[in-house]
Amino acid sequence: MNIALIAHDKKKAEMVELTKKNYEILAKHSLYSTGTTGLHIMGETNLKINRMKSGPLGGDQEIGAMVANHKIDIVLFLRDPLTAQPHEPDVSALLRLCDVYNVALATNINTAEKLLDSIKDE
Ligand code: PGA
Repeated sequence: MNIALIAHDKKKAEMVELTKKNYEILAKHSLYSTGTTGLHIMGETNLKINRMKSGPLGGDQEIGAMVANHKIDIVLFLRDPLTAQPHEPDVSALLRLCDVYNVALATNINTAEKLLDSIKDE
């Protein structure tokens, strides 16, 4: 499966922990991320990640285009609900496309863990 990993700045540490904890599961799939999130994950794990541009510079839209082209099966997007994001329209657009194309989407760590658990045997 193709899995997108995105985390807002205050959630990047959580994302790194999530990827370390679920390394065995994630390593079996093709991973995509926004720019800085990918740098953090690759800096702390051996996971291979296809990095897009940074989120505020269009990375969320790049992932959104992949969703629209049926190239992403799961989106794990750890959002920071307490900090205003300059690229909020891009964030909303990506979430909307996940609903348009019925792509599995987690926006917090609890759901992300449950989603990863659900594919552990694939
Ligand atoms: P980043 O983008 O991984 O480049 O920080 C994430 C985002 O804020 O959408």
